[in-house]
Amino acid sequence: MFAKARTGAIQASVRNAQAAAFSKQASRNMKILAILYKGGEAAKQEPRLLGTVENELGIRSWLESQGHEYLVSDDKEGPNSFLHKNIHDADVVITTPFHPGYLNKELLDKAKNLKLCVTAGVGSDHVDLNIAAEKGLEVIEVTGSNVVSVAEHAVMSILLLVRNFVPAHEMIKRGDWLVSDVARNAFDLEGKVVGTLGAGRIGFRILQRLQPFNCKEFLYYDYNALDPTREKEVNARRVEDLKQFVSQCDVVTVNAPLHEGTMGLINKDLLKHFKKGAWLVNTARGAICNAEDVAAAVNSGQLNGYAGDVWNVQPAPKEHPWRYMQNPLGGGNGMVPHYSGTTLDAQLRYANGTKQILENFFQGKPQLPANVIIGNKGYATTSYGQR
Ligand code: NAP
Repeated sequence: MFAKARTGAIQASVRNAQAAAFSKQASRNMKILAILYKGGEAAKQEPRLLGTVENELGIRSWLESQGHEYLVSDDKEGPNSFLHKNIHDADVVITTPFHPGYLNKELLDKAKNLKLCVTAGVGSDHVDLNIAAEKGLEVIEVTGSNVVSVAEHAVMSILLLVRNFVPAHEMIKRGDWLVSDVARNAFDLEGKVVGTLGAGRIGFRILQRLQPFNCKEFLYYDYNALDPTREKEVNARRVEDLKQFVSQCDVVTVNAPLHEGTMGLINKDLLKHFKKGAWLVNTARGAICNAEDVAAAVNSGQLNGYAGDVWNVQPAPKEHPWRYMQNPLGGGNGMVPHYSGTTLDAQLRYANGTKQILENFFQGKPQLPANVIIGNKGYATTSYGQR
């Protein structure tokens, strides 16, 4: 499901057939499905909630004016769901990481007309990328559309954990005033070592935003070294061994994509190598962390806290351990629903980006290289030049 492999059995014959089919089909009306999150009353009152079922990315009239059929729902799970029932003859599926339509092998096998999967946002791990590549499907996302939004949220989450903000605020709402109860586990970020696991668009922006805090050191762990100029810009030192990386950090922020190499990467074995009482922030993907192992580490105090907005299953079930975990001093939980990358500013960017991707597709124009996860030549590569 979570592919990283850059190779794969992508047959030239499949590509050629796809290209021929595309030129025939480009002129005909298309069936476009969108799986978005339900906006309810909020979406009726706030039209800038473009990523909702109600506001439909703001592209309905544009699509219909060209004769395309546009079907939108949040109903995505199980054989009787809207997604399962409609995928068989869809040409395009748009889905969002905030309420992902999981395009697994079973669903992709049913999708006989599908050519394009669009991610309205960043992170296409909800698509079985190896299967999509084998089938010659394109997977395109709106790269960069919410990287500032997520970086800001990660900085906020680091601060709220380190400063023990959540229990202090809850105390106020309860009507209490017990300064020492919250001050006993509140620290300054100044003088701490902060490391990012993944130093791409978001990880780099987090380090940029943390510069004025006078941290002791900034570290990063990534497949590739940053360009020396960029490394200097954020005063960061690369650590090539993951265990050594986590063992030096007071704060670890996770900013790598979910793929075969990162699924469950932060588990009880790796957590043993964290500094006792470190803080962990994950705004990348929930499944990069083992949910039970992280909750146990927070509950025992091995981690002083965990914060983030991404969950291994979304929507997260009521009994998910991340809803209820807390450190032995009653804090250390900064979990929220998946919304860091769907601020109103970000929604406008990813809605516009989605429209541009569709326009390119209808007109047979090349997609922006940075947006391509799987293009018509298979897996894309990224480069710092595009960041
Ligand atoms: P990006 O620019 O592609 O950066 C990701 C970085 O992580 C790249 O440098 C990548 O290296 C590196 N990486 C990949 N696997 C790694 C591993 N095993 N260990 C260490 N580094 C690894 O992506 P981004 O825009 O910063 O976004 C990062 C992730 O954040 C997305 O994939 C998405 O899952 C998540 N996200 C979340 C939200 C939200 O709302 N919470 C919104 C946007 C994005 P290579 O380029 O060599 O692969």
